Amino acid sequence: MADNKSAQYSPFNAACQDILFEHPEAIGVAYRVLNCGCALICGATAGGDPIGTLHHISGQPIKRGGKSPICLKCRKDKGLDRVVWEGIYWPGPQNEWPDKDLRISIGRKIFGSGYIEPE
Ligand SMILES: [Zn+2]
Repeated sequence: MADNKSAQYSPFNAACQDILFEHPEAIGVAYRVLNCGCALICGATAGGDPIGTLHHISGQPIKRGGKSPICLKCRKDKGLDRVVWEGIYWPGPQNEWPDKDLRISIGRKIFGSGYIEPE
């Protein structure tokens, strides 16, 4: 039997789950990954609107008992000019995700008309 606890834990997944838990109206989590390994994430509604606050999470593992630290680069410039990848995190198995057309339309509302999904 699969043990959920053995699934790889990452600050990114944990932060996305937190946002979805705090904002039940969010159906996905928009993210921008920066070249330092940090990510900016924010909940997204079915209408493609951001919800809640923008979270800045570090690519570093969370230290016991503490919040994940923001790297020195991001403390200086917040990272908005260093985006290397952007996309949307959908919770659950792929067969429970919204239809591709809806996913793309939400992505385009958030990131602009150039948004595509990785194949
Ligand atoms: Zn950073």
